[in-house]
Amino acid sequence: MSVLEKLTSADAIALEDQYGAHNYHPLPVVLNRGEGVYVWDVEGKKYYDFLSAYSAVNQGHCHPKIVSAMIAQAQTLTLTSRAFYNDKLGVYEEYITKYFGFDKVLPMNTGAEAVETALKICRKWAYEKKGIPENEAQIIVCEGNFHGRTTTIISFSNDENARKNFGPYTAGFIKIAYDDIEALEKAISASKNIAGFLVEPIQGEAGVYVPSEDYLTKAKALCEANNVLFIADEVQTGIARTGSLLAVCGNCSCENHCEKQSGYVTPDILILGKAISGGAYPVSAVLANDPIMNVIKPGQHGSTFGGNPVAAAVAMAALDVVTDEHLAQNARKLGQIFRSELAKYIETSNIVTLVRGKGLLNAIVINDTEDSETAWNICVKLAENGLLAKPTHGNIIRFAPPLVMTEEQLRDCIAIIINTLKAFEL
Ligand SMILES: *Cc1c(COP(=O)(O)O)cnc(C)c1O
Repeated sequence: MSVLEKLTSADAIALEDQYGAHNYHPLPVVLNRGEGVYVWDVEGKKYYDFLSAYSAVNQGHCHPKIVSAMIAQAQTLTLTSRAFYNDKLGVYEEYITKYFGFDKVLPMNTGAEAVETALKICRKWAYEKKGIPENEAQIIVCEGNFHGRTTTIISFSNDENARKNFGPYTAGFIKIAYDDIEALEKAISASKNIAGFLVEPIQGEAGVYVPSEDYLTKAKALCEANNVLFIADEVQTGIARTGSLLAVCGNCSCENHCEKQSGYVTPDILILGKAISGGAYPVSAVLANDPIMNVIKPGQHGSTFGGNPVAAAVAMAALDVVTDEHLAQNARKLGQIFRSELAKYIETSNIVTLVRGKGLLNAIVINDTEDSETAWNICVKLAENGLLAKPTHGNIIRFAPPLVMTEEQLRDCIAIIINTLKAFEL
């Protein structure tokens, strides 16, 4: 096909189908432009984006401040590798550590890499600081977790589709029920070799499971009492998504890190990705204080692109936007409206049984079996009606629009969602 010809949706889908590995099952929508809360397909149809690239685009599509920072840095210096210093990385490292209140950051590119990084730091800390015998360290993880797609990470997934025929698996992980403090207590007291507890403050991929109010504070206290590192994977929940800067911030929606609010949990290791760049560039980060981060010495971990000048410039701009535009406060306010309007509808609905979530990370549960096509069919219909969302697992649909949405736009979207659902009422 000539580059001058305009690609139709059918053309683009056929190309991906023929030449791309079939490792995703996208909705049949082909996008070529985005701005704020909107995206457009190649035929010019406009949609509300209610996925935000799995919460990477919290700041909205093509945010001008982030794009400008990216262009300016791309025209100046893009990559030095870490073989040399550059004039952006240190500035960014100071910025992000002060923003989140940690001594140090280790910069990476993708969420899965940052999770891997955290696991390596945790293990090394366990041997060198906690005194666990070599190769005996265990890290506790939760049922239903999603932490990425590498060989080690899928080793402790319980999504059979993500795991099957990718073995042999990495050893050293213990799986317990999510939101079950007794299970954590039991697992920690069962062994002297527990190095860390890796947890999502809200399980996003699993279907937006919000744990009990005091789960994270109790889990952190247990970890602290037993010299176990509390590792928070906030790749999806972080950066204002749940109505606070981090989901571990509890009920605080202040713009900056602060430990004074009740319910606040300070992770020993904090993992960030996705919206740390506003979706403009792959940027991830692992944050920790010196006694933990300093176990890593030259040559023991790294990445050619991690901490490159474009990533540094983009991440600073993206985090500025979160503060300047009060995205945590907006997510909190709009999230309450979203859940209360959906809950009102659900009272009279046969097709939806439940709405849950925090801030603008929400999901509805469809009244059908987990292997049914209903949630998928609803998402196809939502797209026809101008709103893009995707099922997570089976019969659960996640709703996570960009956090720059206005109340008027949100109410428009709620109407689209409810009207679409009504067509599926039993
Ligand atoms: C998306 C996600 C990851 C993996 O991030 P990638 O950039 O896709 O590697 C890890 N943890 C959580 C909680 C996520 O939502």
